[in-house]
Amino acid sequence: MGRNIKDEKDIFARESYRVRSIMSQRKRKNELRARIILFSTGLILVAVLSVLAFRLAGLNKKSNKDNNNVTEANTPSDGKVKAANKEKKKEPSDEQKQPAQTVAAKGKKRWLRDNLDPEKPMVALTFDDGPYTPVTSKILKVLKKYDARATFFVVGSRVPTYEDMIKQSYEQGNEIATHTYNHANLTKLTTKQMKEELSKSRKVIKDIIGCGFSNLRPPGGSINDNMRNNIKVPMIYWSVDTEDWKSRNAKSVLKECKAIQDGDIVLMHDLYPSTAEAVQKLVPRLVKQGYQLVTIDELFHYKGIKAEPGKVYMSGR
Ligand SMILES: [Zn+2]
Repeated sequence: MGRNIKDEKDIFARESYRVRSIMSQRKRKNELRARIILFSTGLILVAVLSVLAFRLAGLNKKSNKDNNNVTEANTPSDGKVKAANKEKKKEPSDEQKQPAQTVAAKGKKRWLRDNLDPEKPMVALTFDDGPYTPVTSKILKVLKKYDARATFFVVGSRVPTYEDMIKQSYEQGNEIATHTYNHANLTKLTTKQMKEELSKSRKVIKDIIGCGFSNLRPPGGSINDNMRNNIKVPMIYWSVDTEDWKSRNAKSVLKECKAIQDGDIVLMHDLYPSTAEAVQKLVPRLVKQGYQLVTIDELFHYKGIKAEPGKVYMSGR
């Protein structure tokens, strides 16, 4: 019995030793497998990272090549944004993107349709002091609906803020003209300051639509000999003053427009909601009466007026 027990103990000891050794073998195998997995994952990671690094370096090189004159293009995304902006600015000067009815995007004919009837009456609506999106956008909408054109005498300092309005207005065939850069009374400035007002205005407009302006409306209607002698574009007055800035009332504006005649230049301001409200009624009314709503350049062209630099024009008559 004692023997048997001893034997059994031996058997048990041998058996448990066998089990332990199998267990420890398995454990070693598992550890080895884990190490292999860890190592290969590390290898894959290194490979992926190096491919990425090569690609980034390649892109950087390419974008720097694309932007030869953009020296500060440090990262690919930076270079791409700048290239896109450059393209954006070029876009409006592309003649193919002009409305079908405008003759050309460049030179004196850019705000001139060739399909107007010289026998039919014409009127030039003009808007000063803008752009101002809440009002300008409403005016543009009604002009578009009736295939009408107008002239916007914009204040240069406002132009970058309302870039979208300038673009939209231009693309609809409206004339973008200047009302100086700072709404300055040009009679109070030196010749140099006066020229700066106009050159700065030209630049901000050109930056957006690809061309400058061909007409000026002097702020406050103030004009002196210095301006007549030094300003290189015609100066545009008006023959109908709606006094919209004073009344701020659509009905009152419409009343001032009742006596509109062929060749009139109408003065308004795209700053007041009441002006937009008046224009929403005025445009269909004039169209119904047979008027062609034209730009200043169109008015001069069809009325046979050769507008000269530094001269003042009050109407197309
Ligand atoms: Zn003004």
